[in-house]
Amino acid sequence: MVMSKNQADVAVVGSGATGLAIAYGLRRLGLDVAILDAGDRGPRASTANFGLVWVQGKGPQSPAYARWSRAAARAWPELAAELKDATGIDVDLRQGGGLYLCLSEKDLAARMETFSRIREALDGDYPFTVMDHAALAARVPAIGPEVVGGTFCPEDGHINPLKMCRALQSAFVGAGGRSLCLGSVERVTPLSDGGFRLEAAGGTCEAGKVVIAAGLGCHKLAPMVGLTAPVAPQRGQLLISERVRPFLDLPTAHVRQTAEGTVQIGDTKEETGLDTGTTLAGMIAMARRAVRLFPVLSGVRLVRAWGGLRILTPDVAPIYAQSDSCPGAYVATSHSAITLGALHAGPVARWIADGTEPFAHFEVFHGKRFAIPATAAGE
Ligand SMILES: Cc1cc2nc3c(=O)[nH]c(=O)nc-3n(C[C@H](O)[C@H](O)[C@H](O)COP(=O)(O)OP(=O)(O)OC[C@H]3O[C@@H](n4cnc5c(N)ncnc54)[C@H](O)[C@@H]3O)c2cc1C
Repeated sequence: MVMSKNQADVAVVGSGATGLAIAYGLRRLGLDVAILDAGDRGPRASTANFGLVWVQGKGPQSPAYARWSRAAARAWPELAAELKDATGIDVDLRQGGGLYLCLSEKDLAARMETFSRIREALDGDYPFTVMDHAALAARVPAIGPEVVGGTFCPEDGHINPLKMCRALQSAFVGAGGRSLCLGSVERVTPLSDGGFRLEAAGGTCEAGKVVIAAGLGCHKLAPMVGLTAPVAPQRGQLLISERVRPFLDLPTAHVRQTAEGTVQIGDTKEETGLDTGTTLAGMIAMARRAVRLFPVLSGVRLVRAWGGLRILTPDVAPIYAQSDSCPGAYVATSHSAITLGALHAGPVARWIADGTEPFAHFEVFHGKRFAIPATAAGE
């Protein structure tokens, strides 16, 4: 069916990592898909993150999220290869395992305790190894003497998140998807004969289905179609260095060497509202920790620092939901959309297209899990 410019089978609000992956997946399934985005001025976690495709530590309170993260890591190689074929863009996916390095016995003990809990919840199927200083030094000779030990997960990896978004955008457009330059979506209204109207600053779009994948914007848009997405910002500052000789061939939770040779150093966790700034105190703390982990970084020049906003749900697990009151309206958001990208392009897009649930009881990720029961609300 030929559609006029601002109509589509599915309108996806948000062209960050989540929206792009879902839009690409839907287009791949043959649907006419339009993306609407507010533009570059708002906070965009997808251009401000650490680039980990990370399994270890995910889901201490949610076995489903732990399994989901593992499935995502397994699905990434196929998507990376497909994007390379379609666009020529190599997203620099490396999945040789990842490390969390501890500078205190207390930190290491806490991680071991958390990981044991996750392993138990996953019936023993949760791969990680605890390594002491000597074992780590044998694997990564550049670690500093203060590193007491760490955890290794063979399923961890990293990617270039900017290339990931560029490749998804390029593959989406190359496959016939459309990005509508209409600015911020202000209203989403269900239509009486089915479908939705999206009103944006620069025009409107009508679509049979709507997917709200607007990061922090989900909070405002989801209730317009009977959904809930109580996401809140948390600032993370990051640093990047000049290029240095290869010294680290696998990512760690706080320091990773990129394919280009730069060193990315993270991160802070700050409750500063929508402020994406940087602070000297934050930068000093990150740089000091990085040098304690890898003394080779002492004297290396930092070339850039920035702050990005995480998109946190109250339990840190993702939200995927279809509206009960407005069927055809969906919300999708998570605080690790780089890691989860391959599932967003695959099973999540399939679920939106034809209702096939990615796994039994997928409603575990519905936003209504945060609803306060009437009794608890003080009745
Ligand atoms: C410091 C830091 C480190 C991180 N490290 C990692 C990591 O290592 N691995 C990992 O997996 N994740 C990491 N993350 C999280 C990851 O970056 C996010 O999960 C991901 O980028 C979220 O993508 P998104 O598309 O949902 O949101 P965003 O990237 O924020 O995109 C949302 C889009 O929606 C648009 N929008 C919002 N409101 C509207 C509206 N009303 N109308 C139209 N458009 C709208 C915005 O313009 C934006 O483009 C990190 C985040 C931070 C901040």
